[in-house]
Amino acid sequence: MSDYDVIIIGSGAGGGTLARHMAPSGKKILLLERGDWLPREPQNWSAGDVFVNNRYVSPDTWYDADGKPFQPQVHYYVGGATKLYGAALYRMRKEDFGELQHHGGVSPAWPIPYEEMEPYYTKAEQLYQVHGARGEDPTEPPASAPYPFPAVSHEPRIQQLSDDFAAAGLHPFHAPCGVMLNEANMPYSNCVRCSTCDGFPCLVHAKSDAEVLGVRPALEHPNVTLLTNATAVTLATNSAGTAITEVVVERDGVRETYSADIVVVSAGAANTAKLLLASASDKHPNGLANGSDQVGRNYMFHDSQAVLALSKEPNNTVFQKTLGVNDYYFASDEWEFPMGNIQMVGKSVADMYRGEQPLMTKLAPTFSLTEVADHAIDFWLSTEDLPLPDNRVSLDGDGNVVLNYKSTNDGARDRLFKQLRSLLGHLGMQEHHLIPRWAYLENKIPVAGVAHQAGTCRFGSDPATSALNTDCRAHEVDNLYVVDTSFFPSIAAVNPALTAMANAVRVGDHLLERLGGNAG
Ligand SMILES: Cc1cc2nc3c(=O)[nH]c(=O)nc-3n(C[C@H](O)[C@H](O)[C@H](O)COP(=O)(O)OP(=O)(O)OC[C@H]3O[C@@H](n4cnc5c(N)ncnc54)[C@H](O)[C@@H]3O)c2cc1C
Ligand code: SF4
Repeated sequence: MSDYDVIIIGSGAGGGTLARHMAPSGKKILLLERGDWLPREPQNWSAGDVFVNNRYVSPDTWYDADGKPFQPQVHYYVGGATKLYGAALYRMRKEDFGELQHHGGVSPAWPIPYEEMEPYYTKAEQLYQVHGARGEDPTEPPASAPYPFPAVSHEPRIQQLSDDFAAAGLHPFHAPCGVMLNEANMPYSNCVRCSTCDGFPCLVHAKSDAEVLGVRPALEHPNVTLLTNATAVTLATNSAGTAITEVVVERDGVRETYSADIVVVSAGAANTAKLLLASASDKHPNGLANGSDQVGRNYMFHDSQAVLALSKEPNNTVFQKTLGVNDYYFASDEWEFPMGNIQMVGKSVADMYRGEQPLMTKLAPTFSLTEVADHAIDFWLSTEDLPLPDNRVSLDGDGNVVLNYKSTNDGARDRLFKQLRSLLGHLGMQEHHLIPRWAYLENKIPVAGVAHQAGTCRFGSDPATSALNTDCRAHEVDNLYVVDTSFFPSIAAVNPALTAMANAVRVGDHLLERLGGNAG
């Protein structure tokens, strides 16, 4: 007899959403989280503490392909990486579910079509209170419901930017945003529309993160238990290797074991691979559920670039992340391959630039850092990173994560940068300055910027080429599921969290059916 119906390992976008979705069923659920609650404190909104001193980057050491240690940009908290995320909650495009030829190679098809994910995207948008406007983005996939909340309005400089993009023949749109903002009734709005959102924790709990809208509502149900500071270290199976019998956990320096009918791993792409690889046994000599040798492989993390342009007029915007441009998502008249998505990143301030060498040397002779901050308009360019088998997570002899990664699709990334740069003159910007920034990217050590990590346990119909089946159940272990971004066979060029959330609801429905329960 198991202790629980379901154990969920990791409380981020995947695990936190699954816990919330399954909680009303009355099933006995244990949520294991290696981190603690993220402290609510004034430093939550301090650029110096968050960006310069990395106050909320959790201590961990990973190694690159040459064995050099680095600190990955990970956030081990209740709610996972969503505690710090920018809450840009995009659906993948319908075409992203099919095979797409890129400049740098092929982005493989998903084993399910967009239409199968669509109802779950709608549910995830409702759970995470997404604000947006349908019909503006020319690449938007079909949706069965409007956004649950109206789009977040542009502030004047961003409205001007939107108008200028449109005058240049593009189709700017209101970006989908997970903030609990009520512009029609600000005295009752949870969100105060501040400048310290993207990359910061929300001090007033108004960001649609997996702690606030996943874990906390789940814990209102007495059948859900959360253990913090509880790291799953291995998964043990029955003698045939067909089912997990024990989850071995380290909590406050003590080893404990828990059992459940179903075990769901959602520890983030790298840590999920780590846990499965560390659970090798006689029946699973290459790592648990790794007969296909796919566990750890095809690690992706987006070819993202944070870039800063200098507006001729001052940019007084407070909440900047309201605009997107997808005209280059698939191709343009001059370039036949997909380039990706242009969106805004949180408004930069002088404090964030400290130590950013490219920015300082390029602009310092002409502009002071305060002048730069006053005029900065900050963009985030995302190009699809393609899955390569040799871009992988493996373990060294001491069980540490080794991340072997080479960038892919660089030509498309450079092309997107050039497209934006060529437009600066039409957008009221200094024409020659489009400057790469770190933002939360850690450009110093590219492999450390793991915010958008995905891949490592791809789902598919063929057990020879995938670790999980289309229900995200391990092909080789009957009661093992994975619901973080590990299951992605390709990462598209939009932010990944909403897809992880939607998929967690999809897998949750499957689990409820399997366990004979209702979503409530
Ligand atoms: C600064 C920043 C900005 C971002 N902005 C956006 C954005 O605007 N839009 C977007 O879509 N995405 C954004 N992302 C990415 C997004 O947050 C992630 O894609 C998403 O959270 C991934 O969900 P996940 O469930 O795979 O992993 P996570 O959310 O990271 O959750 C994994 C959880 O597992 C826990 N864990 C790990 N190992 C163990 C273990 N062994 N035992 C127990 N628990 C464990 C971790 O502590 C963590 O809580 C951003 C990320 C960052 C860091
Ligand atoms: S903009 Fe809103 S959601 Fe974001 S940190 Fe500020 S108050 Fe929180």
